[in-house]
Amino acid sequence: MAIVRVALPVPLPRAFDYLAQDASPADLGRCVRVPFGNGEKTGVIVELPHDGQAHPGALREVRAVLRELPPLPPDWLRLARFASAYYQAPLGEVVAASLPPALRRAALVPLRDPTAGWPLALTESGRATLAAPGRAGVARRILQCLADNGPRIRAALREQFAGSANAGRAIGDLLAAGAICPVAPAPAAPPDRPPLLAAQAAAVEAIAGAFGSFAAFVLHGVTGSGKTEVYLRLIDQVLARGEQILLLVPEIGLTPQLEGRVAQRFPDAPVVSLHSGQSDGARSRGFVQALTGAADIVLGTRLAVFTPLPRLGLIVVDEEQDASFKQQDGVRYSARDLAVWRAHDRGVPVVLGSATPSLESWQAAQRGRYRLIDLPQRALAAAMPTVRLVDTRSTKLDNGLSPALIEGVGARLARGEQSLVFLNRRGYAPVLCCVACGWVSACTACSANRVYHAADRRLRCHHCGAEAAVPQHCPTCGNQDLQPFGRGTQRLEARLEELFPAARVLRVDRDAARTPALWAQMLERIHNHEADILVGTQMLAKGHDFARLTLVGVVGADASLFAADFRAAERLFAQLMQVGGRSGRADLPGEVLVQTDYPHHPLYQSLQAHDYAGFANAQLAERRAAGFPPFAAHAILRAEAPQLAQALDFLRRAASAAQPLPDTVVFYDAVPMRLARRANLERAQLLLESSSRRALQALLAAWLPQLYALKAPRDLYWHVEVDPLEL
Ligand code: ADP
Ligand code: ZN
Ligand code: ZN
Repeated sequence: MAIVRVALPVPLPRAFDYLAQDASPADLGRCVRVPFGNGEKTGVIVELPHDGQAHPGALREVRAVLRELPPLPPDWLRLARFASAYYQAPLGEVVAASLPPALRRAALVPLRDPTAGWPLALTESGRATLAAPGRAGVARRILQCLADNGPRIRAALREQFAGSANAGRAIGDLLAAGAICPVAPAPAAPPDRPPLLAAQAAAVEAIAGAFGSFAAFVLHGVTGSGKTEVYLRLIDQVLARGEQILLLVPEIGLTPQLEGRVAQRFPDAPVVSLHSGQSDGARSRGFVQALTGAADIVLGTRLAVFTPLPRLGLIVVDEEQDASFKQQDGVRYSARDLAVWRAHDRGVPVVLGSATPSLESWQAAQRGRYRLIDLPQRALAAAMPTVRLVDTRSTKLDNGLSPALIEGVGARLARGEQSLVFLNRRGYAPVLCCVACGWVSACTACSANRVYHAADRRLRCHHCGAEAAVPQHCPTCGNQDLQPFGRGTQRLEARLEELFPAARVLRVDRDAARTPALWAQMLERIHNHEADILVGTQMLAKGHDFARLTLVGVVGADASLFAADFRAAERLFAQLMQVGGRSGRADLPGEVLVQTDYPHHPLYQSLQAHDYAGFANAQLAERRAAGFPPFAAHAILRAEAPQLAQALDFLRRAASAAQPLPDTVVFYDAVPMRLARRANLERAQLLLESSSRRALQALLAAWLPQLYALKAPRDLYWHVEVDPLEL
């Protein structure tokens, strides 16, 4: 009887041993179902300990080993182990977080019949049946239809014969009888590829020159410089080498667009997309196709970094600075950083693409650890958009809109072009107030205000989701005059509709684009020019290419200028570059209007000059002086509890457990978090800082077991985050 060591999704830093009748080293990496307590759990075999090495005690027996699929390969297990060690998360939790739903249940994934979507055609035998006299049923009419019109896909046939109750069964019977059969569709004509610009060609050559070994590239390309075209050419070459590509993008919303471009360019290559918006079945199937090597191109959001890829040849991370590559709960990993580790481990190149690389990547490029490639010019448009700073200190604003912006929108309208007004705040107004007594629409569960949503007249907390109808009168004093203060996208939308009654105003934010279908509809309306004025949040800022969009107005950006978080400026600059980059991407010149009270602020000056490098280097100098990342490494211990005192007490005891403190790691005081209360839990945190990543890692590894051993109230939750993006 063999012993297997299984990583299980339980919040304990250990794996569990089981007996398995016939286990062999070939089972390493296989999913198993095992008894656990009174129930059952699913995990992955990560080791085959020898007799005597097994955990002591009576071992129970594995219930089932999923042998119908190839095991997760050794490099996949290495990646999971690394993520577990680096992000201080139990291996079983990393494994569970990175497996698709079916494998997490150790269930078999029913693969789709690849011929299911192919057109159905009449066979010789079908023709003979049709020629012979026979009963005039639906089957016969289907045969006749195929004889008259040529091959049809199953869905079209079903629709055509929807009047007959048993058309679906008739098609199945005809297939079984061999009267009809699926035929492979004609391969699509290879699409035209635009000739590369010199800078693009140089980028492709440099990266392709590194195939077969590890190298990390920062592809710094201004918005519209044709980074995607570079990726597509690289994919071409990787496919020719018989290898797989992993392409990571920040947002689910961007996958269909890229999927379309990839499918169009490589009509015959099996493409798989993986993101959390998919059905369980689709995600599981995609994962298995990658695992078996059937997929050539894997395209996905952060979770796709864990896709097994036996023939991996290249990893691309697009918009690598994007915060959504960082998982914000559970195992708090950075998919970008894991992608680089994985490329190194597998000996393949990795490309980090961005118009505004993260300062971490930029610094690595400055030091020569990563190789920097520049795409300094736009591919299609003649120039970068003109950036104008509108000084709002001396202007009277109309609901937050400056005369210059209103005039600009009007001019675009007259020319039949599109404008985008960017405000990164949903709702009508961030707070509702009573003018008589000063009551504000505070959230009862959080230390934050509920946002006034005019569309459905509700007050909604953007932190915990709690909501209520707008009260008829002030809950405190009964006054009926409740006023919205400040503004969100709904308010701008309402005002723009009043100002431009003939214009079609389209608001695009998470409320308006609640579902992927709604979001797709909105994108289509914009592309078809069924909207003149767009009002949107950062949803619209990323990656989109709208040919007739020539004006971007930025409202309310100053709020992030003096934020407490040392990364706020970096994020703001990236966001403004990105949203500004939506304008004038094709043949029409673009303009960006930034409304600000601080037109001389260096951030806006760099933005106006399209000077990312200047901005980044100035930021790096500040970070170096302050000893912030990337010149230091951070980790945070956070605790949440019903009482703030409980959370702070836990953090203080945690800090003393680390005594004696090594002098290489600084422990800051435990403090309440900026949003101190969320969903009725008080939150506090303890920041650890070190100039040496290695020293910090060593400390964490020794400290974590002590944290698990600390006594804490039952309703206290704690976690450690390594390389946090928000302090
Ligand atoms: P980025 O991702 O860098 O913002 P895209 O890859 O979306 O830019 O390219 C911007 C536009 O330029 C797209 O419409 C794309 O089709 C076009 N484009 C890219 N490279 C070329 C090229 N070499 N010749 C002509 N058009 C190009
Ligand atoms: Zn009142
Ligand atoms: Zn709340």
